[in-house]
Amino acid sequence: MPIFEYQCKKCGRVTEVLEKAGTKGKHTCAKCGSSEMVKLLSAFGVGKSGASSSSGSCPTGTCSLTH
Ligand SMILES: [Zn+2]
Repeated sequence: MPIFEYQCKKCGRVTEVLEKAGTKGKHTCAKCGSSEMVKLLSAFGVGKSGASSSSGSCPTGTCSLTH
């Protein structure tokens, strides 16, 4: 599940927000109530994709020959 961090422009408080796909809601600061939130880049979900999907489910390596 993607978790994004938003930082309040007013007071600088960082809030973690669980964001589902397709959801575009406005986030407000829990401290001062301001809706001016800046999305921060999180370490989750960045990079590391596509390198672990090559025949990892076949222990003998012969599964692809049975077509
Ligand atoms: Zn705030």
